[in-house]
Amino acid sequence: MKNKIVAISGPSGTGKTTVVKELLKKFPSFGFSISATTRLKRDKEKDKKDYYFLSIDDFKNNIAENNFIEYEEVYSGVFYGTMWSEIKRMFSQNSNPLLDIDVFGALNIKKYYKNDALIIFIHPGTIDNLKNRLRKRKSESESSLKKRLAKANEEISFSNKFDKIIINDKDIKSSVDEVISVVNEYLNL
Ligand code: 5GP
Repeated sequence: MKNKIVAISGPSGTGKTTVVKELLKKFPSFGFSISATTRLKRDKEKDKKDYYFLSIDDFKNNIAENNFIEYEEVYSGVFYGTMWSEIKRMFSQNSNPLLDIDVFGALNIKKYYKNDALIIFIHPGTIDNLKNRLRKRKSESESSLKKRLAKANEEISFSNKFDKIIINDKDIKSSVDEVISVVNEYLNL
């Protein structure tokens, strides 16, 4: 199989994580591309499985050594990036890297890999939809909700640059099915 990459992007709260999980179940050739980040590890997360958790200094050293294909300061002071070594490792095992990545990261991946990358934007439908979903999570303070919504608006303004936009305003299952069929077609090209 050709070395192809698939990246899933979109504002937080759109169901991106569920889509990634379902794709990993459905396509045995996919491997989850583990990103590096400087954010703190959450309780359920594992180092080197969910992320490579790095200090800011380590992250900056990796930038200096050109170890990232792309990296972004996704939130103020918090960096996330995809490492060359991660993608190389997967290609050497004949697996397709599946990325959960922010909008600008996805656009950089596309710029580099062109037809060897498929970038998909999971769209919340309306901002009101997203607001309701984030409120339901109950983990958001009003100020963090505002920040996320502002970021979501910015991200949505770039959605037309993606290979495919999936509007997740129905049940998540039908959105997942839609993504599966787009990915199927892409991998079998
Ligand atoms: P979280 O902290 O909730 O795991 O992720 C926050 C955001 O960072 C999400 O939008 C996620 O897709 C994005 N992200 C995760 N890994 C990467 C990466 O390697 N590069 C970029 N640019 N964004 C990433």
